[in-house]
Amino acid sequence: MKPLGPIPPGFGMIEGQLAIGGRKVRELVAEAGMTPLFVYSADRIRRRVTDLLHTMPSTVALHYAVKANPYTPILNLMSELVDGFDIASGGELIMALSAGLDPSRISFAGPGKRIDEIEAAITAGVTLNLESEGEAVRALEAGERLGITPRLAIRVNPPFDLKGSGMKMGGGAKPFGVDAERVPAMARAVIASGAEWRGFHIFAGSQALSTPAIIEAQEQAMALAAQLAEQSGAALPHCNLGGGFGIPYFPGDEPLDIAAIGAALGEALERRAPALQDTQFCLELGRYLVGEAGVYLTEIVDRKRSHEELFLVVDGGLHHQLAASGNFGTVVRRNYPVAIATRMDKPADEVANVVGCLCTPLDRLAEKGQFPHADVGDLVAVFCAGAYGASASPAQFLGHGPAAEMLV
Ligand SMILES: *Cc1c(COP(=O)(O)O)cnc(C)c1O
Repeated sequence: MKPLGPIPPGFGMIEGQLAIGGRKVRELVAEAGMTPLFVYSADRIRRRVTDLLHTMPSTVALHYAVKANPYTPILNLMSELVDGFDIASGGELIMALSAGLDPSRISFAGPGKRIDEIEAAITAGVTLNLESEGEAVRALEAGERLGITPRLAIRVNPPFDLKGSGMKMGGGAKPFGVDAERVPAMARAVIASGAEWRGFHIFAGSQALSTPAIIEAQEQAMALAAQLAEQSGAALPHCNLGGGFGIPYFPGDEPLDIAAIGAALGEALERRAPALQDTQFCLELGRYLVGEAGVYLTEIVDRKRSHEELFLVVDGGLHHQLAASGNFGTVVRRNYPVAIATRMDKPADEVANVVGCLCTPLDRLAEKGQFPHADVGDLVAVFCAGAYGASASPAQFLGHGPAAEMLV
C-alpha cells in the first residue's frame, strides 16, 4: 500500500457523494454532459485570495500567473480579485485582455517572445519583462516602428534559487532573465532609450513548501533589487518579487505558514533600502491561488485484476492530469490526493491502482492506494487539479480529446 496525498480542506459530502461548491459530483457531471470533467470552485478561489490578502502587507500587489490556469471564467473571476496578471505568451495576452483586465496591470515574461508577440504587447500597453539584451533591442525597435513608447522591465536571473522548490528558475545558468551582474548596464540603456521604465522582475522558483525558504528568497530578492537599483542610478518604480508558494500535493506535505511569510515581508519592507522607498512591490502566484480549488472527475470504465493487484481503469488520465501521473516535474512518483467521489461515506477497505485509459504504463493516477470498494460507473476525484491540469497536459495524445471544464 502507498499513501495518498492530503485532500485539501473545504469540500463537502452530500448523500455519500463529494460536493464541490455545495453540489454533488453526479449532478455536476450530468450538467457538463460528460466525463472527464474539471470542476473549479469559485468560492475556494475567492477565499484563498481573500485570506492571502489579509496576511500580506497591504502595499504589496497580488498578480495571478495565468499559465497556472487560463480557463476564461477563472480569468474573469480573477480580474475582480487580484491587482494584475502575469502572462507568458501572445495567446495568454489575448486571454487576459478579453477577461477585461487593464493592460497597464499586465506583465509579460517568458523566454523566446516572437516579434509579433512583442508588438502585440506594446500595442496593448502591457509591460514586457525583458529576458535578454537582444529582446530589449527588438522591443525598442518594435516601439519605434509602432510609434508607441514601450513599457519595459528587466527579468533578473538572481544569483540564488528558491530552496526546496519543485522548479528552480534562478541561480546559475538559466534560460530565464538576465544575469544580475549585467542588469545595471542594461537598465541604464533601457532608461536612456526613452522607454517607460517599469523595474525588475525576480522569480527564483516555484512550488516551495518551506516557509523559511520563501521568507529568505523574498529578502534576497529585495536586497538584490536595492543593489541593482543603486547600480542602475535610477529610482525603481516596480519590483516583482516572484512567488513560488506551493500547495501540498503529496503524503506528508504541510501547507505554508502564510501569516509568517506576510509578517516577514512586512518587516523587510519596513527596513528596505532608500533606493526602494517608492517602489511598488508585487507577488505573482499561480497554483497557490487556484490549485486546491480544482477537482478532476473521471469515471471508472473497468475493474480488473492482474496477478495480485486490482486495477480501476478510468476514462481520464495523464492526457489531462500529467502532473498527477507523476510525469511533470517530479523525480519520484508519489500519489496525489485521490478519492472515490461517489463513495465518500464508505470505509477504505481495498487496495487499488487507479489507471488512466491511455495505452502507456505511465498513465497512473494512484498507485496502490487504499479506497472503498468501487465499480464501473463510480466517479474518481483527483484533487489539487486547479493548476497545471487541463492546459498543461497532452490532451491530443492518443486522441481522447480535452476534458470538460466548469467553474461553480
Ligand atoms: C510558472 C510561473 C509562475 C507561476 O508559478 P506557480 O508555481 O504556479 O505559482 C509565476 N511566474 C513565473 C515567471 C512563472 O514562470
